[in-house]
Amino acid sequence: MDDRTTRPLTRRHALRHTAALGVGAAVAWLAATPVAAQAKLAKDAVKYVDKGDVPGKDCDDCRHYLAPAKADGPASCRLVEGAISPHGHCAAFTPRA
Ligand code: SF4
Repeated sequence: MDDRTTRPLTRRHALRHTAALGVGAAVAWLAATPVAAQAKLAKDAVKYVDKGDVPGKDCDDCRHYLAPAKADGPASCRLVEGAISPHGHCAAFTPRA
């Protein structure tokens, strides 16, 4: 059995990939990695801002956006760590299909 395919990915592993591949490639790598094995990207790594300045490209227009589980709870993202704003934006923005 190939040990690399069964070991959970660590934050250090993800950050090493981010530095080596650049943000775009790291985002593609994370998007292709099963959710259970993911370590999320730091907000700084993807230039996240709480209020985007490009109309139609807010976090709630992005396919990686995860709406709050409760009406007053924080939103989150499949790729970026921490709470995010529905009106935020980052370099990993991907429009909904
Ligand atoms: S724009 Fe960035 S932070 Fe916002 S939902 Fe998309 S990937 Fe996540």
